[in-house]
Amino acid sequence: MKRILTGDRPTGPLHLGHYVGSLENRVRLQHEYDTFIVIADVQTLSTNFDHPEHLPEDVRHVALDNLSVGLDPDRVNIFLQSMVPQIAELTVFFSMFITVNRLRHNPTIKTEAKQHGFEENMTYGFLGYPVSQAADILFCRADVVPVGEDQLPVVEVSRFIARRFNELYERVFPEPEGLEGEIPRLVGLDGKTKMSKSLGNCIYLSDKSEDIRKKLMSAVTDPARIHKDDPGHPEICTIFSYHKAFNSIESKDIEERCRAGTIGCVGCKKRMFEVLEALLEPVRERRIRFEKPGMVKEILLSGTEAARIEGGKTVDLVRKAMHINYFD
Ligand code: ATP
Ligand code: MG
Repeated sequence: MKRILTGDRPTGPLHLGHYVGSLENRVRLQHEYDTFIVIADVQTLSTNFDHPEHLPEDVRHVALDNLSVGLDPDRVNIFLQSMVPQIAELTVFFSMFITVNRLRHNPTIKTEAKQHGFEENMTYGFLGYPVSQAADILFCRADVVPVGEDQLPVVEVSRFIARRFNELYERVFPEPEGLEGEIPRLVGLDGKTKMSKSLGNCIYLSDKSEDIRKKLMSAVTDPARIHKDDPGHPEICTIFSYHKAFNSIESKDIEERCRAGTIGCVGCKKRMFEVLEALLEPVRERRIRFEKPGMVKEILLSGTEAARIEGGKTVDLVRKAMHINYFD
């Protein structure tokens, strides 16, 4: 069975961008692939090293988000990055042959450094997060990595590392392929390019109905539309982009009615609200089931145990390939 590795940084609750970018593929493919989901707590510290106190709550939240969208813990291994020591070990080995320039010129590193104000002065850990992410992916010799568009250049680093390792030493790793969701990048409620925890423009999977209604009602639409029957421009409207992502069956019809001025922004938002409620209702029900005391802990401990076993096998192969298995 081919293998999937993907995951999230526990920097806060997951949102609809995660859903279309990666979670949907995780759920869809869990039956066809042996699946590992990393909760990347160490990688969170690459930007949030000064606030580790948020980690326990955020780890639990991200685990619950993954479970409530429909990942089956009997099938999928959800694990904590910091509790798989082989990932740290691989990070060190990989860092020996990847150059600083390759990391500096990575488009995702550049964009995120700007977003966090790290352009002039970034930590070694932030610059190196694609290397640690390569270790997350390669520790289980994964074949496929479901991610949003923003992460593709980072997956490219993992592909490079796998290739380079295989050439330098011995063939140990497959070249992992990034797999985008049907909507590779969901825009934020403010119309900004990406819905993102750090930008505060999100609808969270755990939002209550009333909060979602309020968020939708105050979202930006087409500024040229003053009256309900003015012809609209769906191509620039945030809400229309959500119809394309979550209501593809009706979206053609909504597009035509918007252009003709026969559906107003309020009506269009109300319909979106209903669509999201239908999507999130089963998610809420599952969350309640997994919130039972002790359940998340048990799931994470067993997923982490499976990850450590797999990590052990990979590190044995790596040490042998690198001639550092002295006493075997
Ligand atoms: P942060 O702002 O803390 O970096 P984030 O919202 O970017 O958080 P991550 O945990 O970095 O979330 O990303 C997890 C996964 O979700 C990645 O594969 C990423 O590409 C995907 N993803 C995040 N936001 C979006 C989005 N708006 N559209 C599509 N995919 C997304
Ligand atoms: Mg991110």
